[in-house]
Amino acid sequence: MNILSVIINENDDLNESSLEIFSFIDQLGSTNKISSLVFGGEKSAISKLCSDEIFYASVENSEALNPNNVLKTMDKFLSDKKFDLIVFQKDDISNFVAPALSFRKDFAYLPDVKKFVSKNESEIKFVRPVHGESAEAIYSVDISSTIIIKIRKSSFEIKQLSKQNSIVNEIILEEQDENTFKILETEKVKSEGIQLDEAEIVISGGRGIGSKEGFDNLKELAELLNGALGASRAAVESEWIETSHLVGLTGKWISPNLYFTFGISGASQHLAGCINSKNIVAVNKDPDASIFNHSKFGVIADCNDFIKEVIEEIKNIQ
Ligand SMILES: Cc1cc2nc3c(=O)[nH]c(=O)nc-3n(C[C@H](O)[C@H](O)[C@H](O)COP(=O)(O)OP(=O)(O)OC[C@H]3O[C@@H](n4cnc5c(N)ncnc54)[C@H](O)[C@@H]3O)c2cc1C
Repeated sequence: MNILSVIINENDDLNESSLEIFSFIDQLGSTNKISSLVFGGEKSAISKLCSDEIFYASVENSEALNPNNVLKTMDKFLSDKKFDLIVFQKDDISNFVAPALSFRKDFAYLPDVKKFVSKNESEIKFVRPVHGESAEAIYSVDISSTIIIKIRKSSFEIKQLSKQNSIVNEIILEEQDENTFKILETEKVKSEGIQLDEAEIVISGGRGIGSKEGFDNLKELAELLNGALGASRAAVESEWIETSHLVGLTGKWISPNLYFTFGISGASQHLAGCINSKNIVAVNKDPDASIFNHSKFGVIADCNDFIKEVIEEIKNIQ
C-alpha cells in the first residue's frame, strides 16, 4: 500500500507523540511505501522520520498554520499523487482538515481508529469506539479507493523504528483567500511544567476533591513526583482547574506509566482518555466506584486526607 502520514507541528521540535503514527503504520506490514507530509517544525528533526519520502511545508508565521491553508495545500498536493491510505492524528487542525478533505476528494473517512485488526487484498479492518465509548466496533474498509483515517492519540505505543535519513522535499504552504473555516478567535493556552500527554506520571482530581484549594494539594503532589496535573470534567466545570488539564473523550488522551485518580468515579468518557495508562491507582471513598474495576491499585479513603499523607510521606523520604 501507498501510505501518507500527515503531521502537524505547532512547535519547532517534533512532538514525541506524533511518532505514534509510525507505530500504527508499522502494524500494517513491512512492504508498504510510507510518505510523510509535514507542516511546520524544524527541518533537521523531520529528516529522521520513519518515511521513504518526506514532503515538508515550512511555516514562517504561526498564524499561517491553520485549517484553511493546510486544506488548500493538501488539496493541491493530492492533485497529482495517489495514496491508498492517508493517516491523520487527532489534533486541532487535523480535526477540521481530515473530514473536509474526504468530502472534497470523495474519499472514505474513518475517525477515531484505535486498533488495527487485519488486512487482505481487498479490505482492511480497524477498531473504533461506538455508543459514547461504551462499546467498540470493527469497521471493514474497502481499499480499492483512497481512505482517510484519523488515529486516536495514546493508542499506539511509540517505538523507535529505524529508517535512513530521508530526503526532504520542500513544498509551499498555500494561502487560502476564501476561508472554508471561519475561525473567530483562537486562545493559545500557555503550557506550564510537564505536558499532560507526554508525562510519565499524571495526577488527576475529580469532583471528590471538592474545591479549588484541594487542587493546590494535587499540584504540589504532581510537582513532587515530577508529574503533570489532570482533571475530570466535573472538576473543570466546577472551575477548580483550567480546561487544558481535562483528561478524557473531550480532553487529552494520555498513556502515562502511572495514573493517579483522586475522587474520580470512572465514567466511560473519562476512561476513554486514560485507559491506556500502564498503571492506574485510584483513591475513592466509595468501594463500588467503577474506577476500581480499571485500576491496578485501589485505596478506599477520603482523597483529600490521603493526598496530604502522601505528600508528607514523600517529603520525609526526599
Ligand atoms: C459527551 C460527553 C463527553 C464527556 N467528556 C468527558 C471527558 O472528556 N472527561 C471527563 O472526565 N468527563 C467527561 N464527561 C463527563 C463524564 O460523563 C462524567 O460526568 C465525569 O467524568 C465525572 O467526573 P468525576 O468522576 O470527577 O465526578 P463524579 O462522577 O461525580 O464522581 C465523583 C467521585 O468522587 C468520589 N468522592 C466524593 N467525595 C470524595 C472524597 N472526599 N474522597 C474520595 N472520593 C470521593 C465519589 O465516590 C465519586 O466516585 C463527558 C460527558 C459527556 C456526555
